[in-house]
Amino acid sequence: MKKHNFSAGPSILPQFTIEKTAEAIKDFAGTGLSVMEVSHRGKEFVAVMEETQALFRELLNIPDNYSVLFLGGGASLQFCMVPYNLMKTKAAYLNTGSWSSKAIKEGKFFGEVVEVASSKDTVYNYIPKGYEIPADADYFHYTSNNTIYGTQIRKDFDLDIPVVCDMSSDIFSRQIDVSKYGIIYGGAQKNLAPAGLAFVIVRNDILGKVDRPIPTMLNYQTHIDGGSMFNTPPVTPIYAALQTLKWLKEKGGVAAMEKINEEKAALLYDEIDRNPVFKGTVLNKEDRSLMNVCFIMNDGYQELEKDFLEFATAKGMSAIKGHRSVGGFRASIYNAMPKESIQALIDCMQEFEKTHVK
Ligand SMILES: *Cc1c(COP(=O)(O)O)cnc(C)c1O
Repeated sequence: MKKHNFSAGPSILPQFTIEKTAEAIKDFAGTGLSVMEVSHRGKEFVAVMEETQALFRELLNIPDNYSVLFLGGGASLQFCMVPYNLMKTKAAYLNTGSWSSKAIKEGKFFGEVVEVASSKDTVYNYIPKGYEIPADADYFHYTSNNTIYGTQIRKDFDLDIPVVCDMSSDIFSRQIDVSKYGIIYGGAQKNLAPAGLAFVIVRNDILGKVDRPIPTMLNYQTHIDGGSMFNTPPVTPIYAALQTLKWLKEKGGVAAMEKINEEKAALLYDEIDRNPVFKGTVLNKEDRSLMNVCFIMNDGYQELEKDFLEFATAKGMSAIKGHRSVGGFRASIYNAMPKESIQALIDCMQEFEKTHVK
């Protein structure tokens, strides 16, 4: 039976990425060796690194005054690297979920954190609006896509202070204007590559302004100067990322992907809104994530949650259980998720409706 992978992360990757990476694990670039067992400073891997950086820049239209880094430590290490490198006295944070909260916690080790707004009161089911961002903050930090709660901020902020964004779960899913950001970072395991790789896009001139000493490995400048090869980078995930970027370019790039993502998400949200057995957890339509679609059983059907999970799982829907803090269901529909899989989930919902609607 075909499996439809709705996992939130690590998550579905293009079949192209999996096949090409499997080939290179056996024989990398005609070397007769595995990509896992060659030097990262050999000419074959240096070529991979250069091509990955170049395609990354091309697909996101990254200006020349930004560096692109591939680091270990996941997005979570960036929660600490950002304030380490940027915070002089205080920074502003928008709290839209668990990942934002974790970033805030790390920020507090380095100075004052101004939480400009929070949607914690209602389990983060909306994006706060109408708050003020202090103009004297060293930077403003937010999470663009809240993987757990299914909310998303799809506009670029236009601020006079550096904007720092955790785009772990929506990088390459929609068009962005990189020139409006100081730092964009994320873990690669949602839309790009297997786990073990974090990407950081940093505007060079915002660095070097803090007085504190920064340990070598936690200093962005180290990795910029070292061409993202100061130490051994996550070689195999970078190889896989390159394959995903090639696949994305072949699909027409980020603009084409955004359009497909809008269509895919609309299919599923329309069904959630129509089907009397289910309801969405994010009520403001403009706050709904195109990547993580959260829904629960509608009033009167709550006792059927386990039944639907079993029914859908038996039909090949994998990992649709919602995060424990929200309950219900979460369908993560990243770039690599084909429309047919979303249709398969919708078919399950409609079949379940027919047999259970009151
Ligand atoms: C998954 C995720 C993280 C955590 O990434 P790690 O690579 O596991 O550290 C951080 N932020 C967001 C928005 C995520 O979705």
